[in-house]
Amino acid sequence: SDKQVSCIGCGVFIQTEEPQKLGYAPESALLKEEVICQRCFRLKNYNEIQDVSLTDDDFLKILHGIGQSKGLIVKIVDIFDFNGSWLQGIQRFVGSNPVLLIGNKSDILPKSVKQQKLINWMKREAKELGLKPIDVCLVSSQRGHGIKEAAELIDEYRNGQDVYVVGCTNVGKSTFINRMIKEVANVQELITTSHYPGTTLDLIEIPLEDGTALYDTPGIINHHQMAHFVDKLDLKLLSPKKELKPKVFQLNESQTLYFGGIARFDYVSGGRESFVCYIPNEITIHRTKLENADALYEKHVGDLLTPPRKDAIDSFPKLIPHTFTINEGKTDIVFSGLGWVTVNNPGVKIVAYAPKGVNVTMRKSLI
Ligand code: GDP
Repeated sequence: SDKQVSCIGCGVFIQTEEPQKLGYAPESALLKEEVICQRCFRLKNYNEIQDVSLTDDDFLKILHGIGQSKGLIVKIVDIFDFNGSWLQGIQRFVGSNPVLLIGNKSDILPKSVKQQKLINWMKREAKELGLKPIDVCLVSSQRGHGIKEAAELIDEYRNGQDVYVVGCTNVGKSTFINRMIKEVANVQELITTSHYPGTTLDLIEIPLEDGTALYDTPGIINHHQMAHFVDKLDLKLLSPKKELKPKVFQLNESQTLYFGGIARFDYVSGGRESFVCYIPNEITIHRTKLENADALYEKHVGDLLTPPRKDAIDSFPKLIPHTFTINEGKTDIVFSGLGWVTVNNPGVKIVAYAPKGVNVTMRKSLI
């Protein structure tokens, strides 16, 4: 029949066409009396959250629903993609609910980065974007760093109420939730033993011990993320698994650095200076003269200057310049979703290029 079937886990309409989208179940699942979507199936049987993507409208609907409910919002961001992974307008949707801001992927931060400085920066940045989090913390969902502390904060701030975990795709939200399930024993117990009651459309409900729940929301696709401008293979290079190794460059005026072919750093003026690059180890940095930089890109994007790879350059956006004059010592030029360059001294003029749509910003250095 063509009657729409709903998942008994989360209530979403079942579809059998698109595995990456919400409500997917293989054809064979439809033969069963009780149909469960693949996402709920995995959670139930393997204690594992699988991320799916939603359209923007769907996501807004969910956020709106959260604003109408009472609970703690846990917003996950990628500390290497703070601006790119920000959810526009989140402050309007959360209503009066408190927001705990969690910066993920702390394992790639070089040791020299002061975590407290990063936390302070996240607070300021969130405030500037219109959100005042109740607290900010750092975790590595991959390695498990800070997870117990985050769980404690969640427990403290939720005040006996439900928890909603939000974040855009690729910030590591599923890794975070899976880590919570594994490390916070009572959560695991509850998932494996309790009846699986989820009823809220599009939200995955993970029951907590006192009758409240932790809800996973599907990731929103944020179109400004660097991650969307590169294909899957290139994205691997942009998702480092190891601590970043800072690379120092002594530059004269009118020299250019290319970070693969995805970003460019022109040192325009300010005398001989050193610059420290914090970008994924796998991305090769090429130095050239400013006057040759355009021609080099024309000729070598996709081979010498990669990512993007050759067969991905057609869909890769143009690099757009952003001009900065450094007035204070030790300043970072941040390429959202890629990393940053620390400028040591004031009086320096920089032009930083990123793909159209990707943010480049300046901040006080974290070192
Ligand atoms: P989601 O789309 O937000 O659910 O993100 P995923 O959980 O699928 O993670 C996106 C990418 O980030 C994957 O390549 C993960 O391996 C990686 N990732 C997630 N958490 C961490 C972390 O703590 N550290 C590092 N280095 N990578 C992470």
